[in-house]
Amino acid sequence: MELLYEGKAKQIYKSDNAEDIVIRYKDSATAFNGVKKETIDGKGKLNLRFARHFFTILENAGIKTHTVNYIDDLTLTAKRVEIILLEVVVRNYAAGSICKREGYEKGFKFEPPVFEIFYKDDAQNDPLVTEEYAISEGIATRNEIAKIKSEALKINKILSDYLATKGVTLVDYKLEFGRLPNGEIILADEISPDTCRFWKLGTMDSLDKDVFREEKGSLIEQYSKLAEILGVES
Ligand code: C5P
Repeated sequence: MELLYEGKAKQIYKSDNAEDIVIRYKDSATAFNGVKKETIDGKGKLNLRFARHFFTILENAGIKTHTVNYIDDLTLTAKRVEIILLEVVVRNYAAGSICKREGYEKGFKFEPPVFEIFYKDDAQNDPLVTEEYAISEGIATRNEIAKIKSEALKINKILSDYLATKGVTLVDYKLEFGRLPNGEIILADEISPDTCRFWKLGTMDSLDKDVFREEKGSLIEQYSKLAEILGVES
């Protein structure tokens, strides 16, 4: 297979079918824009299980995603989309960068949730942008941003409600969207403990990549615990 692109946690290959791509998960964990990096056996497999779990929940609730089918433990095929170069973040509680940037105390509850967009640009460290800049620079149209925002907030409701039944708080998360050749905007990339903050309900105990970022224990042990809590299939 021809490698099209290699990211921090996945490789993207050409598919036999021009409308699709093949995504292969890697056993790597990174944080702080790749400054902290480790190879962790079994991480790729585990993350794909989470990604599949969350996307299936969303698809069943009517959210369109890029998934075509799952091939093996590390591989899936997805629709080939033009990735919109924005990282979309929804926050229910303050944690991570917003505490540093805006001085919020960790755990502050945002009501309604906060919707933010960042340029997907590692070289610039993914800077925060306003919708107006993103529109005027041609990254996405006003209608596309409106659609992205409404999908991101629908996803928040679906996942927050689901996770609450499992005793987990959805603190914040990052999404990426893609544009199909017909212009339709669909959910791409993944949702996993790499891209979300999860806390044990009623606490600020991390069940996500903060364990790795903040060196609070073994990532694989934490992710395995979360898989058990959520009943994520192996
Ligand atoms: O770093 P920050 O606090 O802004 O992250 C907000 C949420 O977005 C977190 O759940 C984090 O895991 C996710 N995120 C991500 N990829 C990035 C930046 C943030 O998945 N490049």
